[in-house]
Amino acid sequence: METKQRKVVVVGAGSVGTTYIYALLQTGLASEIALIDVDRKRVEGEIMDLSHGLPFIPPVSIKAGQYTDCADANLIVITAGAKQAPGQSRTELIQKNADMVKSICANIRQHETSAVIVMVTNPVDTLTQLAIKHLDLPRGKVIGSGTVLDSARLKFLLSRHCNIDARNVHAYILGEHGDSEVAAWSMTHIAGVPIEEYCKICRVCDYPRHHRQIAEQVRDSAYHIIDYKGSTFYGIGLSLTRLSGAILRDERSVLTVSTLLQGEYGLNDICLSVPCIIDRDGVERVVDAELSPQEQEGLERSAETLRAVLAQVKA
Ligand code: NAD
Repeated sequence: METKQRKVVVVGAGSVGTTYIYALLQTGLASEIALIDVDRKRVEGEIMDLSHGLPFIPPVSIKAGQYTDCADANLIVITAGAKQAPGQSRTELIQKNADMVKSICANIRQHETSAVIVMVTNPVDTLTQLAIKHLDLPRGKVIGSGTVLDSARLKFLLSRHCNIDARNVHAYILGEHGDSEVAAWSMTHIAGVPIEEYCKICRVCDYPRHHRQIAEQVRDSAYHIIDYKGSTFYGIGLSLTRLSGAILRDERSVLTVSTLLQGEYGLNDICLSVPCIIDRDGVERVVDAELSPQEQEGLERSAETLRAVLAQVKA
């Protein structure tokens, strides 16, 4: 895989799409990047601007793309569409972005791609489910960025709270990328020690009160960022870069992507985030672990929330 073509198509040249490309370029992970947007002028401008940094980074070809680029792509990342307005929930965006995703999927489908497709546009879980339906690809091939970003936010906040390197924190947010998401404390480890045990050793914080506050901060992060600066793009840009590495390098990394559950966690026919092993074909396996009864209940509630959102969409 390392020596072969690693082509990425990004649909959507807005803040998320271009920040992702800016981060991806610097890793040397992709050999070719094609950017597509309905706003062709914007694409030309972004490609010119990004190209001027190429002398400083590993070789990569970047260009204004077309849907024909999907035919030989390894990865297609969809970031096109309307974003949340201040105070607006992700689910309120639904019908407008659902119609757009349907037309993007029809364009991709024409080119019989074998790429992994990553949905980023919100509400990401519902749009991932619609994309699976419209693309007619194996379920593991079409995934959503889901709670990869939320899990990163949890890791960051825990690392700051515990004053320890974030890379030594393993923590997962499950369920909806949205208000009903669930912090899986039973899966959280610091330095390889379950968090409850670690807190007994550390004795700095008021467990579990502080943990509840941290989970609330994770859930509300996007609302605060959108309120302060209009939109979020750096965190998701780096989250997508991490996910792209797992796919393009066939890493078998465990990430909480949104995937169609078929029996795992006792849930069926709903897209939401759980820990998944990610390889060059997308989700190779869902890590179907046992949660605490409270977390399982939370995940089931999140699935119900997402079913209600899905029911609102005219597909
Ligand atoms: P933006 O407004 O900056 O850019 C959106 C782009 O989509 C625009 O350039 C627009 O021209 C383009 N577009 C619209 N319709 C299109 C179509 N049919 N085909 C191709 N391009 C089209 O928005 P943004 O800040 O980049 O956010 C994009 C999406 O990503 C939003 O839905 C946002 O909520 C979502 N988002 C998701 C996460 C996550 O964790 N999943 C995080 C941040 C943002």
